[in-house]
Amino acid sequence: MGAANADATGSRIMVFVRLRPMSRKEKEAGSKTCVKIVNKKDVYLTELASENDYLRLKRVRGRHFCFDASFPDSTAQAEVYSTSTADLVEGVLQGRNGTVFCYGATGAGKTYTMLGTMDNPGVMVLAIKDLFLKVRQRSYDGSHSIQLSYLEVYNETVRDLLSPGRPLLLREDKQQVMKLLQQGNQNRTTEPTRVNETSSRSHAILQVVVEYRYMDGTSVVTRVGKLSLIDLAGSERAIATDQRSQRSLEGANINRSLLALSSCINALVEGKRHVPYRNSKLTQLLKDSLGGSCNTVMIANISPSNLSFGETQNTLHWADRAKEIKTKPLTAGNEEVFKAPDSDTDQAKLVLELQKE
Ligand code: ADP
Ligand code: MG
Repeated sequence: MGAANADATGSRIMVFVRLRPMSRKEKEAGSKTCVKIVNKKDVYLTELASENDYLRLKRVRGRHFCFDASFPDSTAQAEVYSTSTADLVEGVLQGRNGTVFCYGATGAGKTYTMLGTMDNPGVMVLAIKDLFLKVRQRSYDGSHSIQLSYLEVYNETVRDLLSPGRPLLLREDKQQVMKLLQQGNQNRTTEPTRVNETSSRSHAILQVVVEYRYMDGTSVVTRVGKLSLIDLAGSERAIATDQRSQRSLEGANINRSLLALSSCINALVEGKRHVPYRNSKLTQLLKDSLGGSCNTVMIANISPSNLSFGETQNTLHWADRAKEIKTKPLTAGNEEVFKAPDSDTDQAKLVLELQKE
């Protein structure tokens, strides 16, 4: 599925949409379904609701979108991982950085997709498991290192969710990884808002650096790759929450990071030489992980409920736009904009700098 993205030339961001099941709360509120996924690719968004309306789709007012793949609400975590992220993990093992980010309103299923539950682990856990499996098979001398850092950007400040000050060296145990990440997630800053009771107001960024040695013909080659997995804060507008209190400031900052992200996406789509990575903490952290020579995947999470129509429309609009981002190979003349990936120590320095600011 992600084969086009593995190609070094003329690649683009791969964009996926995941629809979550209708929640009990939505059902109780009398929700109707306003999203339909057909053939695992096409997404139909309509303001009308019944099955009959969909059968007469041509006469219904609405919009049609098409993505690299679209996941209906019954899609298992393993399928989401294998379709969206497995190729990117393979790229990381070949030394090409990869980034996956989940975008969508609060409650749309971002954390479920990224972290998941003990019984149904998500992309973060499945990716790490896959990395361990493959690195063990390929390592020349059995030695390898996998380092984790789990950061939060909240209110334009950067905080370490796992081990302040240094990346964590990981031992291989799936249960342990899940526990570690769940603990990290509990350290995330969450605030109740008027829109949702437990809205996640922060961006969570898991970065995994893999290093191993393998035999290339008769010589031993060291490979280093970085995988970034990002659970973004809710994309709903701050204006829909509480404008008078502290939270509107947080909203403004969240918007600043998301706004900066969309400005970078726009600049990349338009092929501009200057991409404004410096406009927010989030985009500074993603400088070597968006565009450039990096493989990038966006998963847009949406609710099926007509009560979230506006947010869903907004999310699908951005997902549609992100399809146009070209990830250009490095060529003479654009090194300034599409800088080669930072080294691990540069990354650690950047995180410390961002924490100080
Ligand atoms: P977000 O992180 O976008 O705010 P969550 O991932 O926390 O949203 O999802 C909101 C709720 O919906 C959670 O209770 C979660 O378990 C549930 N949920 C989300 N996606 C799915 C899914 N694909 N299948 C089953 N439950 C889901
Ligand atoms: Mg969440």
